Order: sequence, then structure tokens, then C-alpha cells
Amino acid sequence: MSGIVDLIVVGGGSGGIATARRAAEYGARVVLVEGGRLGGTCVNVGCVPKKLMWNAAGLADALHEAAGYGFDVALGGHDWPALKARRDAYVTRLNGIYEANLLKSRVEVLRDWARLVDAGTVEVAGRRIHGTRIVLATGGRPRRPAIPGAGLGIDSDGFFDLPQRPQRVTVIGAGYIAVEFAGVLATLGSEVTVAWRGAALLRDLDPMLGAAAQEGLAAAGVTLLPQTMPVALARAADSRIDVQLDTGGRIAGQDAVIWAIGRDPLTGFIDTGAGVALDGEGYIQVDEYQQTSAPGVFAIGDVTGKAALTPVAIAAGRRLADRLWGGQADRKLSYENIPTVIFGHPPLGTVGLSEPEARAAFGAAVKCYNAAFVPLYHALTEARPKTRMKLVTAGPEERIVGLHLAGRGIDEMLQGFAVAVRMGATKRDFDDTVAIHPTAAEELVTMR
Ligand code: FAD
Ligand code: NDP
Repeated sequence: MSGIVDLIVVGGGSGGIATARRAAEYGARVVLVEGGRLGGTCVNVGCVPKKLMWNAAGLADALHEAAGYGFDVALGGHDWPALKARRDAYVTRLNGIYEANLLKSRVEVLRDWARLVDAGTVEVAGRRIHGTRIVLATGGRPRRPAIPGAGLGIDSDGFFDLPQRPQRVTVIGAGYIAVEFAGVLATLGSEVTVAWRGAALLRDLDPMLGAAAQEGLAAAGVTLLPQTMPVALARAADSRIDVQLDTGGRIAGQDAVIWAIGRDPLTGFIDTGAGVALDGEGYIQVDEYQQTSAPGVFAIGDVTGKAALTPVAIAAGRRLADRLWGGQADRKLSYENIPTVIFGHPPLGTVGLSEPEARAAFGAAVKCYNAAFVPLYHALTEARPKTRMKLVTAGPEERIVGLHLAGRGIDEMLQGFAVAVRMGATKRDFDDTVAIHPTAAEELVTMR
């Protein structure tokens, strides 16, 4: 490579790859720098391996439920190492596909760690590369607490390295990862404790979702310890881990402790002279066009601290490329009404405003519709978990400003409803849509 390229992308995760390929497809000369594995967090230690583990847990549930439908099946055990080997092989295959797709789009890929020297220069393995524009898409890493023995615990990256399923596990945290990992481990047979600092799980979301997560995990046998945090971890004589709690209590004999207390942005590669400003929490500050404080330098994805989700990083990057090289002058991502699913036990989905957010924004003009029912699938199973749904509407026309779902199958239900919410659907539009029977989704268009 010689001269000044049109674009240097730092980070080959969800956002970086999407930006690089879209820009190159418009004819830009693009270099992408990735120090770790191509595909980033989502492919290697996030969405993809997580969803495969969640699928395994779903199969375990289905095997237990099969008796209700007349099947004579006995669950003879589960081979975690076999699942891990297949999962890892699939991820390795994806790494290769990502590399091949980048080459196909004529993106030059440099496999090393980058340093941002100034607003037009990136240093990679001692070489300086110059770009007219630079996109920073370096994501984040799991957060660790500063308590004695914290290193005895693992984080979400370590979860995917576990060679065997730990029998006794404590998960610390109450966000996406804590809820997802606790559900998977409990369903596959581990004795799981979840401890967290607040009163409710998933406290940023509609309270119905946190309550449903709590109910589902408790039904799966998980011990829930709200307002409880570890103050120290110690290795016991039998080589297991003891967790000392701030309540004075102790969780003894754990095979694994998993920190799921959020993620911190990766920005240490930015030289101070580059002029890229960070916000109070250390995220790269960007405007609505993903522009940083340094001219020609943009940032997308988790490193910007906005809706840390793969499709968000991809959408922000593609829209940026559409704007800069595709002639779409005002193209940008709207961060409103982003749908998201927590692959918990049960799955939980949400789009738009929570009830408290809507009440803060619209006051007395908010009206909510709720449904809670045992879906037909569970009519014949021993366990009879409820599906819960909530519509949050605002104004006399009852525009749907929030939609929240918990229960079997809602993960695949939400996407289409998110389109309706984004288009400004009202309760009347839902009422006027003929139901599909018998489904759980039909409840969303028949609520009173
Ligand atoms: P990343 O994907 O993290 O990519 C950043 C890349 O930059 C990395 O490959 C890194 O090695 C590289 N890099 C960093 N610094 C440098 C440097 N100096 N030089 C060169 N390269 C560098 N989201 C969903 O939408 N659905 C899910 O189901 C989901 N599940 C998740 C499960 C877990 C356990 C976790 C941790 C996350 C999950 N997420 C999920 C979130 C999702 O993974 C992230 O939002 C997404 O990966 C962000 O993409 P990104 O491009 O911003 O960063
Ligand atoms: P979350 O932000 O979802 O949750 C973080 C949890 O850690 C919260 O319970 C928070 O508590 C707690 N916490 C934060 N800091 C501390 C601290 N210093 N000490 C103790 N507890 C703390 O983060 P996750 O790590 O679970 O996941 C990271 C992000 O990745 C998610 O926000 C999501 O955007 C994405 N993700 C998406 C998934 C999906 O789409 N299905 C799956 C997994 C991750 P409090 O609420 O009190 O602040």
C-alpha cells in the first residue's frame, strides 16, 4: 500500500467490517486493521457462540417438555466439550468467511494492533498509514471489579473458554449477560446463584421484563440475591472459590464466578495528540453523524457507548459509508426505537419506551395494555410458564411508544412489530390487524 488511502478502519468487528465493505463497494480505497480475531466480539465471544449455547438450553427444555406430548425420552446427559468443539469450529469457519468477504470487497486487511497517531495517521506494527478518513470501531472489553481475588473469577470471554460446564456457579450482575448466562447454565444443569447490586434485574428496561426474568430464573432453580455484591473472592482448600458478600454472608464452593458487570470501551490506542475527545465514561464522543471531535475521524459501535448491539454498529457504519461515499448526504442512524432481545430464560424483548420512560415523557397521556397467559404450547407440559406482553401507548390516538414481551417465541416475534412501532402504529392499527390463530403473537393484536 502506498500514498494516502480513502479510509482506514480500526477494528474488524461488526461495525468495522460493515463500514469497510460498504465504503469499498462504493469504490473507496480501504484498509482495515484488526489486532484480534476477525468478526470481533459478536462472532467470537458474543452473539454467535452465546446464541448456540442458548439453543442448547432450549433443546434441554424441549426434552423435558416432550413427555407432556407423549414422548418417552430420558435425558441421558449433555456433552459440553462436544458442544464447545462444534461451536468453536463454527466460529472459526465464520472468521474465514469474514476474511474472504473483505477480500472480495477489495478491502486490504492488516492483522495487528493499531495506534491512532493523529487525525490522518494510524501506526500498525511500526508502519504509518495515512488516510483521508478514519473510522474507529474498536468495541469494548468486559469490566472487572477492584476487589481482592477478583482474578479468580472469569468474564464473558472466559465463559466461552470453559472446557466443562461448571456445576456450581455464581454470576455477578443484572444486565443482559448475567441474565443470559444464568439461564443457559441453570437449564443445562448447573446450580446457579445470581448476585447484583440493585433491587431488580435489567433495571434499565420496562419493570415487567425484569420481573419476568426473575420469575423465569427462579423457576429454573436459580438463587437470586438482589442488593448483594461480593467484597472478596478466595481460593478454598478444595480449590473451589468462596465468595465473600457485603451482606456478611458467603457463597462457598463455587466452580466458577462470572463477572457480568458491564463493558468498558477500548480507547487506549488513541494518542492524546489525535484530538479525539472522550465523554465522562470514557466512550468516544460523536455527533449524530458519528463524527468525533477530530476532523475526518469517525467512531461507531460499542466504543461510542450508544446501544451496544451488533445491528446498531453495522447500521451506523453502513449509513456513514452511504453518506461519505454513496452520495446520500443526510444518511445517519436514528437511535430511537431500536428493538433488542435478551436471550434469557424466558427470552425478553423490547422496543421503544418503558412505562416509566413514557410516563416521564407524556405524563397522564400514557395508557398501558397488559396480557399474561399460559401459551398453548405449555397447555400439555408439566411446567406452565406465562408469556407476558405490554403495550405502552401515548396520546388520544394511542400511538404505540413501547412494546415489551417475555416468553417462549417472542425473540422471533419482535422484529415485525418493531417495524410497526417505528412506522408510528397506533393501538387501533393493532386492533384492525386480523389475528393469526392459534399463536401467542395474536395476543398483541387482541389486547383490551
Ligand atoms: P467489536 O465487535 O467488539 O469489534 C471491535 C474489534 O476491534 C475487535 O475485533 C478488536 O479486536 C478490535 N480492536 C480493538 N482495538 C484495536 C486496535 N487498537 N487495533 C486493531 N484492532 C482493534 N449484540 C447483539 O446485537 N445481539 C446479541 O445477542 C449479543 N450478544 C452478546 C453477548 C455477549 C457475551 C457480548 C459480550 C456481547 C453481545 N452483543 C450482542 C453485543 C455485540 O457483540 C456488540 O455490540 C458488537 O460486537 C459491537 O461491535 P463493534 O464493531 O462496535 O465492536
Ligand atoms: P449491561 O449494561 O447489560 O449490565 C451491566 C450490569 O452490571 C448491570 O446490572 C449493572 O448494574 C452492573 N454493573 C455495572 N457496573 C458495575 C460495577 N462497577 N459494580 C457492580 N455492578 C455493576 O452489561 P452486560 O455486561 O450484561 O452486557 C454489555 C452489553 O452488551 C449490554 O448492555 C448489551 O448492550 C450488549 N449485549 C447484548 C446482548 C443481546 O443483544 N442479547 C447480550 C449480551 C450483551 P446497574 O443496573 O445497577 O447499573
